[in-house]
This record gives sequence, C-alpha cells and structure tokens, in this order.
Amino acid sequence: MRLNEFFKPGHLGLSFEVFPTKTDEAFETLMGTIGELKEFKPDFFTCTYGAGGSTRDRTIQIIEALKNRFSQRVASHLTCVGSTVEQLRDYLDHAVSLGTDYIVALRGDPPKGQSEFQQTVGGLRYANELVSLIKSDYPQLGIAVAGYPEIHQEAPSAQVDLDNLKRKVDSGADIVVTQLFYDNQDFYRFVDQCEKAGIRVPIVPGILPILNLKGILRFTQLCKAKLPASLIEKLSEKDDEAWQSKVGVDYAIEQVSDLLQHGIPGMHFYVLNRSDSVGRVLQAVWPNR
Ligand SMILES: Cc1cc2nc3c(=O)[nH]c(=O)nc-3n(C[C@H](O)[C@H](O)[C@H](O)COP(=O)(O)OP(=O)(O)OC[C@H]3O[C@@H](n4cnc5c(N)ncnc54)[C@H](O)[C@@H]3O)c2cc1C
Repeated sequence: MRLNEFFKPGHLGLSFEVFPTKTDEAFETLMGTIGELKEFKPDFFTCTYGAGGSTRDRTIQIIEALKNRFSQRVASHLTCVGSTVEQLRDYLDHAVSLGTDYIVALRGDPPKGQSEFQQTVGGLRYANELVSLIKSDYPQLGIAVAGYPEIHQEAPSAQVDLDNLKRKVDSGADIVVTQLFYDNQDFYRFVDQCEKAGIRVPIVPGILPILNLKGILRFTQLCKAKLPASLIEKLSEKDDEAWQSKVGVDYAIEQVSDLLQHGIPGMHFYVLNRSDSVGRVLQAVWPNR
C-alpha cells in the first residue's frame, strides 16, 4: 500500500515510532511493547536511525523483528550523517531485502561534539537529495520526510524552511511527519503555510505524550520545541513520575482531541518504546480503532 493512502479522506492513519535498543534485554522488552502496540492496529511502525549510522545494526534488527515476528508494515529512518552515497545504498539494499516498506528520509543532526552538520565526502548535504536518490533507485519504497511546525532550528526563516520542505516533497516524498509540538496553533499555522506553498501531501502531526518533566525538558531543548509555561508549571507540581506521566497523558488527550476536530489526516506517535501512555491516549480519543 502506498504510504499516502493511509492518510486519505475516510482513513485516519496511525503510526508508532520506536528507537533502537542498546542491550539484548532492552530489545526483548521492546518486543513485548510492540506486541502491545500492535493491538491498536497501526498502519505501520517506524524505527529511528542513530547519528552517523551508530545504531545501523540495531535498527535493522528491529525492522527484521517487525516484519518477521509481528508482520507489520515498517518504515526505516535513514540519515545522511557520516555516510557516503555508496553506504546509503548498501543500507537501502539491506532494508529492501528485509521487506522494508517505507523510508523516513532525513539529513540528521550533527553528531555529538559538532555544532554544524558536515557533509561526508561522497555523501549528501540535505534530505531532499536522499529523497531523490530513493525515488530514482528504489521506487518501490514510500518516502516520509520531516516537517517543523516551529521551524527547523537552523533555518533562517519560516519561508526558507518551507521552501526546503517543498523541495523534499517535489523530490518525491509521499507524506510529511512533523516534529513534536505542544501548541496546536503552531501546527495549524504550519499546515496553512504548507497549503499556500503548494505542498499537497498529507501533513501528519507527531505526538509525544510526556512521560516525565526531566525527560521532556531535555528533549524539547535538543529539538528546540516549545513547552507551554502552564504545562511546565503543572508538571512541576509534584516530583513524581507516575503523576507527571498522568499529566502528560491528560494533555495529549486534549491535544489529540483538538487535532481530530480540525481534521488531521492521521497521527504519528513518538512512543519512546513504551505502550502505556500512548495506549491510554488512544483508548480515550479513538476507542473503536
Ligand atoms: C519525524 C522525525 C523523525 C526523525 N528521525 C530521526 C532519526 O531517526 N535519526 C536522526 O538522527 N534524526 C532524526 N530526526 C531529526 C532530524 O534528523 C533533524 O531535525 C535534522 O536536524 C534535520 O533533518 P531534516 O531531514 O529535516 O533535514 P533537511 O530537510 O535537510 O533540513 C535541514 C536544514 O537545512 C535547511 N535546508 C534544507 N535543504 C536546504 C537547501 N537545499 N539549501 C539550504 N538549506 C536547506 C532546512 O531548512 C533545515 O534548516 C527526526 C526528525 C523528525 C521530525
């Protein structure tokens, strides 16, 4: 099934993003989590790809499990960081041989210790170049790209960022999945701007139900997403993870309910390798899935 078909009118798309585990024990725990998440009938799972290919083998291991153990449709994330075009092709060949359905095509963040992205000699500079490579040489793969409701942190303006997003879509991306955000107005503004810019593919909101204050402060600091002051205040009321995760779930339920009322084409959950919070959100907003 083409990637954009999950997000067409009449079908609300659902995807879950997991990340590669570091140990065999964590991998087995993740397998249990995927079994639980599968009950929500996602259209596909995605698995992230660590800086410079640092998680390449672990990403592959999870893709293999999603295909073979769980019979799920799978998107592998892939970044340009630290890879030549030949290495990117090797990865794509391997992913295709395992039955990978889609690729989330990304440039990637600069590796730790580097303040700016540096193109690898013989590699690619921007995500649109990776999209073009996949489109021309792996036409069987659907392609998702990243979009930024609050503007990518390196972009000099919203317009420049939008021009770059349009370039990725014009190169062959089927859908845009957004960076996490906590103010839906940022998402609605972004969708409007995409429409005006002639970006006609589904824009899928990325949702991260907050698990705890410390984690989300670190995360939003890294990707430069805003956390509303009232939400920080609420989360700060008790130094208790169970309570903070309940605040996170309640907030996500409100956020997703509002997004649904505004006619989103589907949703992508950053599940952080856990099923409990996302499960509670989905049971509340979408009980008959
Ligand atoms: C849904 C999602 C999933 C992600 N998964 C991963 C992952 O698995 N692994 C990982 O390491 N990171 C991941 N990231 C983070 C992502 O790699 C970073 O945000 C990275 O800094 C930008 O990647 P990009 O693909 O958006 O880059 P690009 O689209 O290439 O954009 C990067 C910057 O360059 C600018 N730009 C783009 N094209 C041009 C051009 N032609 N000329 C001038 N400027 C240009 C853009 O405006 C932007 O500021 C993910 C992000 C999202 C939203």
